[in-house]
Amino acid sequence: MTEIRSTVILGSGCAGLTAAIYSARAGLNPLILEGHEPGGQLSMTTLVENFPGWPEGIQGPELIDNMKKQAARFGATFQQADMASVDLKENPFRLQTSAGEIVTRTLIVASGASARWLGLKSEQALIGHGVSSCATCDGFFFRGKEIAVVGGGDSAMEEAHFLTRFADKVTILHRRDAFRASKIMLERAATHTKIAMRTNTVIEEVLGEEDKEVKGLRLRDVKTGEESILPISGLFLGIGHEPNTKMFAGKIDLDEDGYIRTTGNVLVTKDGVVVPGIYACGDVQDRRYRQAITAAGSGCMAALEAEKFLEEQGH
Ligand code: NAP
Repeated sequence: MTEIRSTVILGSGCAGLTAAIYSARAGLNPLILEGHEPGGQLSMTTLVENFPGWPEGIQGPELIDNMKKQAARFGATFQQADMASVDLKENPFRLQTSAGEIVTRTLIVASGASARWLGLKSEQALIGHGVSSCATCDGFFFRGKEIAVVGGGDSAMEEAHFLTRFADKVTILHRRDAFRASKIMLERAATHTKIAMRTNTVIEEVLGEEDKEVKGLRLRDVKTGEESILPISGLFLGIGHEPNTKMFAGKIDLDEDGYIRTTGNVLVTKDGVVVPGIYACGDVQDRRYRQAITAAGSGCMAALEAEKFLEEQGH
């Protein structure tokens, strides 16, 4: 007979680990499936300066490591596995994972959202060294510098606008000449004295790989084919995020972009009706705030809901 677990947590970023701390402390012996990006987005950032309690800031990977140790201290166990599919038709739920089948009475989905990247080798090599997907996290490091934001949607406009607080000049690079961004956000960016726009432009290479520091961009005009160098010291990706929810398609309610719809903060629904025993927290259900602290907050809520459900069921 397969063991029936009380709580399985999918994802090991800030939301998943906070859910792990709370549910472990409640004696639920949670199992955390670490997923394909263990530690989530924080594990890819450098200094986190806005997480309460760390007056000097803390490195993202260290913060994650601390949370993991805290959860383990109360009995949480971790497995380096990904979930391939899930059967939510009846409780307990059955999960097919890369480490075999797992059966659980509650499932906390904290599988996050992954920033879209351009996919250039030089871009990947310079993440955390001038290439970032989070203006709120890393903008502060570019005070007085010239930087670029890539993308033509609301995220890119919003990031560029936010970054003018720090940078002397922000150049928005967009691959077309029509924008997805809403009129108001586009106008706000286009009329800002510190923001320049370059359309029909793609990034061929991020320069500075050898120095481990962004020195500029090699750009190509898609209309003329002409190449040019833009000297900058930071590149921010504003080309969107993708929630990690593929395995839930058709099983629970997702919005038009694949984010999990929740009600009552963390309760998951199917056709508008709450599915007892499954909860979603962190970026997988939050396209608005996307902060470590808000992810942690919803992770806590999910664990408390799971605990309440188990208690009501007499487990
Ligand atoms: P988005 O609207 O999907 O825009 C992504 C942009 O990135 C597009 O301009 C796209 O170019 C470009 N892009 C995608 N892949 C690329 C690649 N490989 N290389 C170069 N460019 C690439 O995403 P988003 O801006 O993150 O917005 C997502 C949703 O959140 C939207 O509904 C938006 O309105 C909303 N949002 C709202 C606010 C706000 O109201 N405050 C702020 C942020 C986001 P193409 O146009 O050529 O496809």
